[in-house]
Amino acid sequence: MIDFLIIGGGIAGLSAGARLSEHGSVTVLEAEDALGYHASGRSAALFEEGYGPPSVVALNKASAEFFFTNDYLTPRGLMLLAKSDQAEQFRKDLSELGMTEISVADAMVHVPVLNPETVAYAALSEGAYDIDTDRVLQDFARTIRANAGSVLTRQKVTRIRKDGNWLVEAADVFQARTIVNSAGAWADEVARMAGIAPIGITPRRRSMARLPAPGGHDVKNWPMMLGAGETWYAKPDAGKLLVSPSEADPVEPHDAYADDMVLAEGLARYEEMVNSPVTRVETNWAGLRSFAPDGTLVLGPDPSDESFVWSAGQGGYGFQTAPAASRLVADLALGRAPELDAAMVSALAVSRLR
Ligand SMILES: Cc1cc2nc3c(=O)[nH]c(=O)nc-3n(C[C@H](O)[C@H](O)[C@H](O)COP(=O)(O)OP(=O)(O)OC[C@H]3O[C@@H](n4cnc5c(N)ncnc54)[C@H](O)[C@@H]3O)c2cc1C
Repeated sequence: MIDFLIIGGGIAGLSAGARLSEHGSVTVLEAEDALGYHASGRSAALFEEGYGPPSVVALNKASAEFFFTNDYLTPRGLMLLAKSDQAEQFRKDLSELGMTEISVADAMVHVPVLNPETVAYAALSEGAYDIDTDRVLQDFARTIRANAGSVLTRQKVTRIRKDGNWLVEAADVFQARTIVNSAGAWADEVARMAGIAPIGITPRRRSMARLPAPGGHDVKNWPMMLGAGETWYAKPDAGKLLVSPSEADPVEPHDAYADDMVLAEGLARYEEMVNSPVTRVETNWAGLRSFAPDGTLVLGPDPSDESFVWSAGQGGYGFQTAPAASRLVADLALGRAPELDAAMVSALAVSRLR
């Protein structure tokens, strides 16, 4: 009998599994051949404390210490850029993200390819970091194994029944006291299988293109650039530049791929702000950012059955919130008083959606 059966081997499942493995037996079931195959392997890997709605910001803040003490972060910086007709949106983003306005000339010191004829406003935040997402995932998996837990791939859950305890059918059959639903875009599907009401998760596609470094520049120390209103972003990555159209198109859960037209339009929005044309896309991909109806995470036991615990709706914040979100999931699953403020716990609870 397993104490905690975790469905989903992305950041949500592995982080919750690592926390819970200190207190009971844990098995993680992942449908694919590899951990982090879906959203968790396709993110932009950014930690920006001020990014997201208030309950996400609370989780970001509560996660910072874990990331810093374990050396998962490298300074990146974030630069907000806007055209002359985007002044209102620029001011809104500036205050929400707590950034400092700088002159376009100063912005060009950081990113020499900016086009001063189109960039009218710029702001900078030093508080944005690259997360070593691969190491975070592997370390959580290692913690589970070190605590005698199992992390199993090629185990797609196809049937869930309850007969006192949970009976979960995948490639093998598992018996568990508690299920943790961390199936990302498939979280509602897993809930339905278990006879639990869905919460209205919407997977939203976000595409990404990898370009050669513009003009042959060394982009290593450039900040991530963000178009006002989150209309595009660009981020240095291993000597190349990742550019995203920042779309949030609702789709069915699936193995996501980039939409060519959406990508081309996003690249055009980026290209307008620089004086180095996009000559070649080396590769592209897309991932699903899965949101609850109110856009924030869904963490904790289901009110209809406390042995079914949610860790879903990670949206575009699944990595930066993972240390605190997984601690909260574990606290609630174990019946312990959460460390997080009560108002935030309610804002993240399943009951708010019912
Ligand atoms: C382009 C992009 C950029 C992003 N940038 C950032 C960023 O900069 N910072 C940040 O913090 N976040 C970012 N995110 C968001 C982050 O990647 C996600 O929030 C996070 O990865 C979600 O993790 P997850 O474990 O919930 O989902 P997933 O990683 O999708 O994991 C869910 C897993 O469940 C498995 N599964 C589903 N159904 C079953 C089943 N029946 N049986 C067994 N297994 C099942 C799936 O195979 C999958 O592997 C970004 C996302 C995208 C797409």
